[in-house]
Amino acid sequence: MVLSELAARLNCAEYKNWVKAGHCLLLLRGSLQGFVGREVLSFHRSLLAAAPGLGPRASCRGGSRCSPRARQFQPQCQVCAEWKREILSHHTNRNGDVHWGNCRPGLWPVDAWEVAKAFMPRGLADKRGPEECDAVALLSLINSCDHFIVDRKKVTEVIKCRNEIMHSSEMKVSSAWLRDFQMKIQNFLNEFRNIPEIVAVYSRIEQLLTSDWAVHIPEEDQRDGCEYEAGIYLSESQVNEIEMELLKEKLQEIYLQAEEQEVLPEETSTRLEMVKEFLRNNEDLRNSLTEEMQKLDSLHLQHQKRDSKEPSGEMPKERA
Ligand SMILES: [Zn+2]
Repeated sequence: MVLSELAARLNCAEYKNWVKAGHCLLLLRGSLQGFVGREVLSFHRSLLAAAPGLGPRASCRGGSRCSPRARQFQPQCQVCAEWKREILSHHTNRNGDVHWGNCRPGLWPVDAWEVAKAFMPRGLADKRGPEECDAVALLSLINSCDHFIVDRKKVTEVIKCRNEIMHSSEMKVSSAWLRDFQMKIQNFLNEFRNIPEIVAVYSRIEQLLTSDWAVHIPEEDQRDGCEYEAGIYLSESQVNEIEMELLKEKLQEIYLQAEEQEVLPEETSTRLEMVKEFLRNNEDLRNSLTEEMQKLDSLHLQHQKRDSKEPSGEMPKERA
């Protein structure tokens, strides 16, 4: 039953491309985690070497008053104020959005990762290290922090592709798009020639993208006889895991955009409807995403209720 649903989905070449593209992002994430973790520690050490006053002996005196919210942070103590200045001086996007709400400033003197999160997209407050982050969080850090010496255009090209994957309402991408994505990943990876673990991932990505990616769905009677070729064939449960990760990330994205009112409630309705339509035909995925869907539905319902109470005209703006 479940197998036949998966088989039917993968019969659609463009959906299969979408899942493949998502798999590339997961491989990319895996190859970046170790490197990013090490670099964040070294970045933190270099900050403390330049400004020893910000080290472990410094402590926030503002208490709960030094709490950032979304893009807003007005430090109430000197330590946090200096840290904020220091972070901004290394931020390549210092005049744009900085998601201070990701951070607990009181931990900046002792926790390198809390500093790293100031260079990342919103919604990462509860992530405690690179192993808990998705590809776009790590790519954004590399892009936004001047500790990383890279051609930033190559980073933003990959981020742009990632956003196209996540925002694809039908969860489909063309084969031409996938080839273009492969080229952009290659350009990005070439920036890390001296990091073997990052270079190594390219052959896996290339293999994945150029293969037909025959997902082996065993027939009932040949279940025992199937042979997997490492790296090319994935078992149905591996494919399912990739689909789930992708869909969760997509739902999270819809949630954050709705929460910050970056899109109109009608747009959220449309997006939700499309995902629901897709899940309607795919019980295997639907059952595993119940929690995420409920969270989205209730947020959306809240917005609709509130909007219907508002007098017509301008929407309330919560974000600063
Ligand atoms: Zn403080």
